[in-house]
Amino acid sequence: MDAELDRLVAEVLSTFHIEADDGDPQWRARLRDLRRILARDYRATVRSLHRSGRLPVREFVGEARHHFPDMNRKAMQFDQAMRDQVTDLGIVLRFQEAPDRRTLRAFYHRDRRRGPLIWLNVAHLPGAVAASFGHELGHWFRERMLGPGESAPTRAFFNSDFAEHLRRPDELFADLFPVISAYPTAIAERVFPTGTWRQRLRKAAGLDRATLARLRAHLGSNYGFDIEQRLDWEPPRRLYYITSMLHFARLRWALLEEFDL
Ligand SMILES: [Zn+2]
Repeated sequence: MDAELDRLVAEVLSTFHIEADDGDPQWRARLRDLRRILARDYRATVRSLHRSGRLPVREFVGEARHHFPDMNRKAMQFDQAMRDQVTDLGIVLRFQEAPDRRTLRAFYHRDRRRGPLIWLNVAHLPGAVAASFGHELGHWFRERMLGPGESAPTRAFFNSDFAEHLRRPDELFADLFPVISAYPTAIAERVFPTGTWRQRLRKAAGLDRATLARLRAHLGSNYGFDIEQRLDWEPPRRLYYITSMLHFARLRWALLEEFDL
């Protein structure tokens, strides 16, 4: 498994032209995040959460369509029309460049008096801001569908939290919005050829070169998210966005495999 993981990491780095910099502690931390994302069994995670009622995937799509009819039909855009729809739901949207620039991506805050608030750090790439927005809106949907439960009124989304999302059912639920809105089934089927993915890393992780290229093309043309154009960025920062992209992609793949959705 480790050798396969090493090979997969090398493939990801070479596909996106990222030079390893093992002397840099920041790089090593980012690399650890990437390895965790690649090693996790996303399919087993979504299956078990679904069985316990904490990840009602189809019900989520049905509920989301009441407000956003394009959900799982088109690659949805984080445009002005979408922002207006969200405001109409009584959600306050705030955009700001965080003082530390990029550590905090976004947060969702439930306020009984003033209503829910979604705060977004716009220092990130536009495609990443769109994903953060979807994630925070996912928290709102989760509260509507499953109630606030034990979750704290404020849910923050930090830079390196992706492996953590797999351990926290409410965070993984919140990720349903960005992944299904960005990859409706028809696109997911085209991007992820199930056969090649199935054969790797205990049938759960595979990302071959062709799949990575299709991911890039989809995110580049729909969300302006193309790490290839950011060759001037330092390697840890580029690797961060790749890890973010692969987390969402693997979750989308798991939903397609497990629920045919
Ligand atoms: Zn969250």
